[in-house]
Formats: sequence, structure tokens, C-alpha cells
Amino acid sequence: MVGADGIFSQLRKEVTKRQQNKNFALEAYIDKKDTPLQIHFLNHFKGYAWMIPNGKNTILGIGDVYGNVHLKDEFITLFHLNEEKIKGAFLPTGDDILLERSGVYFIGDAAGLIAPITGEGIYYALLSAYQLSKNSNTMLYQKKMKKEIRTTKKILKTKKLVYNDTLRAFLFKKYNQSKVINKCINAFVQKIL
Ligand SMILES: Cc1cc2nc3c(=O)[nH]c(=O)nc-3n(C[C@H](O)[C@H](O)[C@H](O)COP(=O)(O)OP(=O)(O)OC[C@H]3O[C@@H](n4cnc5c(N)ncnc54)[C@H](O)[C@@H]3O)c2cc1C
Repeated sequence: MVGADGIFSQLRKEVTKRQQNKNFALEAYIDKKDTPLQIHFLNHFKGYAWMIPNGKNTILGIGDVYGNVHLKDEFITLFHLNEEKIKGAFLPTGDDILLERSGVYFIGDAAGLIAPITGEGIYYALLSAYQLSKNSNTMLYQKKMKKEIRTTKKILKTKKLVYNDTLRAFLFKKYNQSKVINKCINAFVQKIL
């Protein structure tokens, strides 16, 4: 049996008797095209916000990587949003991964697979589905996912540094709106697009 039923996996709850750890994000689509891609990091908030062009629309979002669910006011103020357009959703944290228990296999969000700093899970959902389809035995499935899980653990350590209060306060004070930093971020964004 395979649990592919997302963050609130009933199957996972059934075998573990608890819900997995979760983070929270909000998203809104607005009728605006040709917007620039923007990523916002805010000093007082442990996560990031995004503005992504999407055909005739633009996707706006905000996510907290420490499970804070009180993001709505922040989101509305940041993007001057209309409250009705906003939808919320939960996502895994990356520190609560479960690939198999009692003969039940888990993939994607149900397995708790995610990139812990960015909250990207589509790659992991596809990869885990593929690996399980090719290796439907616990040892082999875990072995094939080992590299990703090791990387996730390393990223979780980095996350503590990225969202360290003292370091963030220092960086924001020194480099907020810095032309050099913006240039570096733009170069990075161009490289990954
Ligand atoms: C706001 C937001 C933005 C995101 N942006 C990105 C992004 O840009 N890039 C990225 O890589 N990831 C992103 N993610 C994460 C990504 O959406 C998930 O990691 C990914 O969708 C996980 O896929 P999944 O198939 O495991 O789970 P899901 O997509 O949640 O699919 C689970 C499916 O199971 C169904 N289901 C649940 N319970 C049952 C049941 N009892 N019976 C039958 N069916 C059931 C659900 O209806 C659903 O269709 C984002 C997440 C959020 C919340």
C-alpha cells in the first residue's frame, strides 16, 4: 500500500497515530502579467515571499519555515492584496520524513519530503514515486532515497544559520537595499531561470 495523500495523509496518521510536522504558506493569483520575478526576505519573518509571473497572471505567496500561521496581515501589507484572493496551505518541514512503516510506503508530502528552506516538494514527490515504482522493497527504496535525505539533513542545519536571529539582524542592518547584494541576487536568479 502506498500513501500518496499529501501533507494530511490519513494513511500516515493511521500507522503513526499522529500528524507530521508542518509549515504554512499563503498564495494568491492576481490578474497582472509581465511582472518581474521577485523574492522578498524580511527581517522579522522566518521565511520568504514571492512574486512569480504565470502567463496572464502573477502568483504571489508567502511561507514561513518555522510553522508560523499568522502570515495574512504580513502578506496583505506586502503586496497590497485583497483578502478574498488568498488561499492557505500546509507543507512538510523536512525534519519528519517517513518512507515506510508497517508495510505501508509513503511518497511526496505524505513521506514528509521537501526542500526545507525553499519549500519545494514537486521534485521529491516525482522522485520518490519513481524510486518506489522501481524498487518496491523497503531496503531498496530507502537506499535510493538516501542521497536526498542526507542532503535534506544538511539543509536543515543550514536553515538554522539562515534564520538565525542575530545573523539576520546584522545582515539586514548592513546590507538591506544594498546595490551589491541586489546585483548578486539578480545574477543568481538569472542563472537559475
Ligand atoms: C503555497 C504553496 C506553494 C508551493 N510552491 C511550490 C513550488 O513552487 N515548487 C515546488 O516544487 N513545490 C511547491 N510546493 C510544494 C508542493 O506543492 C508539494 O510538495 C507537492 O504538491 C507534493 O505532491 P504530493 O503529490 O505528495 O501531494 P499533493 O499535491 O498534496 O497531492 C496529494 C493528493 O492526495 C489527495 N488525497 C488526500 N487525501 C486523500 C484521500 N483520503 N483519498 C484520496 N485522495 C486523497 C489530495 O486530494 C491530493 O490530490 C508548494 C506548496 C504550497 C503549500
